Amino acid sequence: MRTVYRDDHEMFRDQVRRFVDKEIVPFHAEWETNGIVPKEIWLKAGEQGLLCLTIPEEYGGPGGDFGHASILIEELARANATAVGFTTHSDISAPYVLAYGTEEQKQNWLPKMASGEKICALALTEPGTGSDLRAIRTTAKPDSEDVLITGQKTFISNGANSDVAIVATKLDPTPSGREITLFIVDHEREGCSKGRKLEKIGLKGQDTSELFYDNVRVPKTEMLGDPQKGFFCLTQQLAKERLIIAIRAAASVDALFEETLDYVKNRKAFGQPLAEYQNTRFTLAHCKAKATMLRSFVDDCLGQLLRDELTPDVAAMAKLLGAEMQGELLDQFLQLHGGYGFMSEYKVSRAWVDARVARIYGGTSEIMKEIIARTF
Ligand SMILES: Cc1cc2nc3c(=O)[nH]c(=O)nc-3n(C[C@H](O)[C@H](O)[C@H](O)COP(=O)(O)OP(=O)(O)OC[C@H]3O[C@@H](n4cnc5c(N)ncnc54)[C@H](O)[C@@H]3O)c2cc1C
Repeated sequence: MRTVYRDDHEMFRDQVRRFVDKEIVPFHAEWETNGIVPKEIWLKAGEQGLLCLTIPEEYGGPGGDFGHASILIEELARANATAVGFTTHSDISAPYVLAYGTEEQKQNWLPKMASGEKICALALTEPGTGSDLRAIRTTAKPDSEDVLITGQKTFISNGANSDVAIVATKLDPTPSGREITLFIVDHEREGCSKGRKLEKIGLKGQDTSELFYDNVRVPKTEMLGDPQKGFFCLTQQLAKERLIIAIRAAASVDALFEETLDYVKNRKAFGQPLAEYQNTRFTLAHCKAKATMLRSFVDDCLGQLLRDELTPDVAAMAKLLGAEMQGELLDQFLQLHGGYGFMSEYKVSRAWVDARVARIYGGTSEIMKEIIARTF
């Protein structure tokens, strides 16, 4: 029994599940072939109040809490619907505007993000740096009431589909040389362009792209938060991003456990179902025990987040272990599927490939260990 969710969360799960099964699952393979999802699915999700779940109604959002967002994350993970980058937009990017934006920025951007009219990316990583965010080279050069932004971003989720991005820059000149300043950059501005959609080994339906900013004139009114506190904002928000990855991991493991159990009950070898071999039973028992511990820890972290108590080090623990256990357990599930586990038409194969990135994005496992180790 899970206690972290209220009844309204579980009722919301039914709505989300219907949407995922009807509007996403039937088209997912096609989106994976195309390497991108159509913008219409964003508008459909927006119409049904499934985007930007934590954005209050006064800014056009559904006014839910992170429990609702977590339900959506779990349901997408259950279906291995990795093509739709709703979470990056709704739970990672838009909350920057809510948390640090001026009233004018919130009124201008959040309703369009909640409706799916404007897809928002988070543009931090550059070709030369990912883990060491303070080493970014994108600059924002003040010019009267504006800044001129120049730089290149890479590996940006929803990059090709994005209409706007939260862009990490350094003011030029920057007082400390290390401080980061965030801007909301409308991609219709002159000088913004998108590079190629990057070819990946997994998450094939989710567009991951390069973004280029060439002397893009952005009004200073689009600066997000204190210009000297961009890095602080990032560290505050990244704890949630890390928990999201852990929530996804736990939900994916649970879903694939059920799928595998079903498979081993039906598949026969040497005259009996695989489920009757002690190796199968012991493997699944071990997986179940680990999955239950993961679920329990992740739910506890979710409770902490809902009470506004989740610290960066605990979020890093959840992300580190969630990502690692997801990789390990999905590998066991795949093995129990035999050759079918290697076939793309089987969910376990795609989930196994897609899970690999969990140890890399949102901060690598090594960086998670650094964050945890700093506490002792
Ligand atoms: C599919 C995908 C989607 C992504 N989406 C986004 C997005 O939407 N927005 C965005 O801004 N970024 C995004 N990223 C980028 C992602 O966050 C970075 O790839 C990640 O932070 C790692 O940075 P890097 O690739 O530069 O690796 P590097 O920083 O070059 O790291 C290489 C290796 O060195 C290790 N390492 C680095 N520093 C240390 C250290 N101090 N101690 C020990 N080991 C260390 C790393 O752990 C890693 O193993 C995405 C990446 C992928 C693959």
